Amino acid sequence: MIPYWVAGRPVTGPLPLATRAGTTSWASEAHVEHAVATAWAARGLRTPARVRADALAHVSAALAARAEEAAALITAESGKPIRWSRAEITRAVATFRWGAEEARRFSGTVQRLDTDAGSDGRVALVRRVARGPVLGITPFNFPVNLVAHKLAPAIAAGAPVVIKPAPATPLSALFLGSLLAETDLPEGTWSVLPVPNADAARLAADPRLPVVSFTGSDRVGHLIRDANPAKHVLLELGGNAAAVVCPDWTDLAWAAERIADMGTYQAGQSCVSVQRVYAHREVYGELVEALRARMSALPVGDPRDPATHVGPLIDEAAAARVADWIADAVSRGATLLAGGTRTGRTVAPTLLADVPDGCAVLTEEVFGPVVVVSRVDSLDEAIARVNASRYGLQAGVFTHDLRVVDRVAAELEVGGVIIGDVPTYRADQMPYGGVKDSGTGREGVAAAMEDLTEPRVLVMRGL
Ligand code: NAD
Repeated sequence: MIPYWVAGRPVTGPLPLATRAGTTSWASEAHVEHAVATAWAARGLRTPARVRADALAHVSAALAARAEEAAALITAESGKPIRWSRAEITRAVATFRWGAEEARRFSGTVQRLDTDAGSDGRVALVRRVARGPVLGITPFNFPVNLVAHKLAPAIAAGAPVVIKPAPATPLSALFLGSLLAETDLPEGTWSVLPVPNADAARLAADPRLPVVSFTGSDRVGHLIRDANPAKHVLLELGGNAAAVVCPDWTDLAWAAERIADMGTYQAGQSCVSVQRVYAHREVYGELVEALRARMSALPVGDPRDPATHVGPLIDEAAAARVADWIADAVSRGATLLAGGTRTGRTVAPTLLADVPDGCAVLTEEVFGPVVVVSRVDSLDEAIARVNASRYGLQAGVFTHDLRVVDRVAAELEVGGVIIGDVPTYRADQMPYGGVKDSGTGREGVAAAMEDLTEPRVLVMRGL
């Protein structure tokens, strides 16, 4: 039985939790209580920045050294194709490395106060201090790197952290626990433990965890926020990300390649998977043909094969839902240009055109390998249709025109606009997050550290 981690120590509970890659156990009630109580007790610890930075640097290096083992674990547990599991580990190595660097840098500011009457001789030291212990709740689709995005900023900012991983992928998170256990971080500063969803709501309500940093669906994220109005709740939620292809874009083959690949990689189970494409009528025909050719040729199959681009979805119910949404769009008049079939957990890369407004493949988050392409007549129309979504995570705009760049940067209702590429692009050090139903708060290690901390002012007189 693979142990989970409570206050930095390996333990097991009485109830087994079987995954596709091995068995761990659900955290016992006593262990959950111990993880929370020790996190609360550790909130006042002043662990030196050097110790926290060294710990994160160690995890980064140890993960790099065991990258192949970690990637194989993600693939076995979640069905993510091995090439994408390897890419995830490369990113997680960087996330922890950024944590180590930010832990050394994070200091605060000095503000002079003698600019205003009554403040002669006064100066303020503005430090950022942790709001308190953090509960990190993570989804299945990046089971290592999204856990890294909870652990690294919390440790770097000096906040104790309790991780509750997704029930389908706890072992990937526990693997990170085994690397953290090799560091000198004090007891109580971190725990990683599987908790059933029913108990997770109770955990999220525990006042000793005043910050909840949640990544997952908007349904669950909003449940947690609404149930805990007094808490500092950070939400990284879903989306139905759009790419806009402008008539000035010269390399349509490359745009089609990026859209096809990033609309379907890891079976579309990415919060910024390209789901909607708005192509200007001047480029629409050529783009659609290139998309159709590329999507029909993408390698689908065994996730352990390094050539595989699209593997299975997380479970059969998810695959059946995606297939239903495709069938619904087709029954309402959509044109199926590629894919549309399902075998067990695997849905073929699917390209749809002429999808009527209101179909779930346009309005909801598909979280499957489905791309919907629509023709637009103007930039105004493209911006309006991107913004018609209740989500707003990132958008990609293929243009070389600076006037278009200026407009989309100002007018698209999203957390990030990616010029010359798909909305799926993400670097782990940049601020990342959404507006509207895609969430509140930002990740990206430095941005998350801002969210996990609050300013504390020390005013000195006579300096
Ligand atoms: P999910 O919302 O079903 O589960 C996420 C986590 O919440 C899991 O750990 C789950 O066990 C837990 N949970 C479920 N019910 C809970 C409750 N009542 N109280 C507390 N915790 C509870 O999401 P998922 O299916 O694991 O992941 C897919 C979703 O995550 C998609 O919507 C995707 O867009 C989103 N996502 C967002 C980002 C981002 O950075 N914005 C990144 C990756 C995934």
